[in-house]
Amino acid sequence: MTLPRRSWAEPFKIKAVEPLRITTREEREVCIREAGYNTFLLKSKDVYIDLLTDSGTSAMSARQWAALMMGDEAYAGSESFYEMADTIKEYYGYEHVIPTHQGRGAEHLLSQALIKKGDAVPGNMYFTTTRLHQEIAGGIFVDVIVDEAHDPENLFPFKGNIDLAKLEKVVKEYGAKKVAYVSFEGNVNMAGGQPASMQNFREVYEYCKERGIPVMLDATRLIENAYFIKIRERGYENKTIKEILKEICSYSDGCTMSSKKDHLVNIGGFLAVNDDELARKTRELVVVYEGLHTYGGMAGRDMLALAQGIREAVDFDHIRARIGQVEYLGEKLIEHGIPIVRPIGGHAIYLNARKFLPHLDQEELPAQALAAELYLESGVRAMERGIVSSGRAKDGSNYKPKLELVRLTIPRRVYTQAHMDVVWESIVSLWERRDTIKGLRFVYEPQNLRFFLARFEPVEAKVPAGRAV
Ligand SMILES: *Cc1c(COP(=O)(O)O)cnc(C)c1O
Repeated sequence: MTLPRRSWAEPFKIKAVEPLRITTREEREVCIREAGYNTFLLKSKDVYIDLLTDSGTSAMSARQWAALMMGDEAYAGSESFYEMADTIKEYYGYEHVIPTHQGRGAEHLLSQALIKKGDAVPGNMYFTTTRLHQEIAGGIFVDVIVDEAHDPENLFPFKGNIDLAKLEKVVKEYGAKKVAYVSFEGNVNMAGGQPASMQNFREVYEYCKERGIPVMLDATRLIENAYFIKIRERGYENKTIKEILKEICSYSDGCTMSSKKDHLVNIGGFLAVNDDELARKTRELVVVYEGLHTYGGMAGRDMLALAQGIREAVDFDHIRARIGQVEYLGEKLIEHGIPIVRPIGGHAIYLNARKFLPHLDQEELPAQALAAELYLESGVRAMERGIVSSGRAKDGSNYKPKLELVRLTIPRRVYTQAHMDVVWESIVSLWERRDTIKGLRFVYEPQNLRFFLARFEPVEAKVPAGRAV
């Protein structure tokens, strides 16, 4: 008899452990109230399973910890910088590397260097920090992602693709000279961790090249995108993740990178570009905002751990297990009828809060309310990705995104399958009492990136339609 085989198992064994604290419901009631119903304001010690983000929360390998001891902490010309830059060149292919403390540091430099006031910056769905830096530099973000990305149930395999007709419309409207660059994100975070196809990367680049418009990748989760190309796109099944990654980057002029995601480190990032003049310009900026151009806000040891992280991140067994764990959780939820964004993405499961809490209006912040309730239920911490994260337009009105989601983000190499079981079981019990969940309203609203520091309070429950009191 052959036993059914799991499609993945963690390709590592555990060397160091960190205890988790299980809290009572009474304790959590106090914690969430003190946090203003914002999971960003909870203390980590009060969280049982932390799915707030996959950013900087990965477990490093023994080799990465060893690399920390080898860092060259010279202020200028650190050997660790050159090793990191060479590794980035080997795997991503770009000529120049400008180190930054994390992804938004790179976004800042790139936006300041390339965007002039009134320029359009087309992109495949916004990301919070990316769009903000583009706007601070005077740019106008225009969403050119395919329509499928806005439909949480559409099973299109490449929901991260750019719609060339939408891009063409922006270019016609502004003129190619007023398009600063195309901001092309791999495995689009806000769409649910959805990849773009190699064909799309290639076509967008060819279109832009003819018109002299640079293509800048947000490479934060490009390795996860490369995995999806390998398993979904014809012609790539026998290529390595490394080969696919390099081919994607060959269809661009540079990238910004938050290494806190794909690269399995707790801090770090960079801007990488091919153009000498752009490199010179951004190096001048990096010394103002981040640090010298050979460390950019990272310690020497951070840069070595980052280089080692790149080598581990492109390993097929690693990436298959990483995405396999996300799929495991997603499939359990689908089995139990929970509305989630599909296809299951690379780094997270997204609960569709509109469908989970149909009795709440979008202005009652359903995704924020659901994230708070999940914490109360089981100590699992997730985050809102809906109307709160979207913020307000220049005219003061709320952006109203079609997607109103709760993101359960899986840190890399941190939790086991048993933890995933706790997570889906607690979501199923929330689902069973979903019509008891109340909405929230702002009591404090910061001006920028409001989701980080905002505070809320519950709004009194309306009686769900068709239900006796
Ligand atoms: C996290 C992230 C960033 C910003 O990077 P930080 O390291 O958090 O500054 C940019 N783009 C995407 C898609 C991200 O997920």
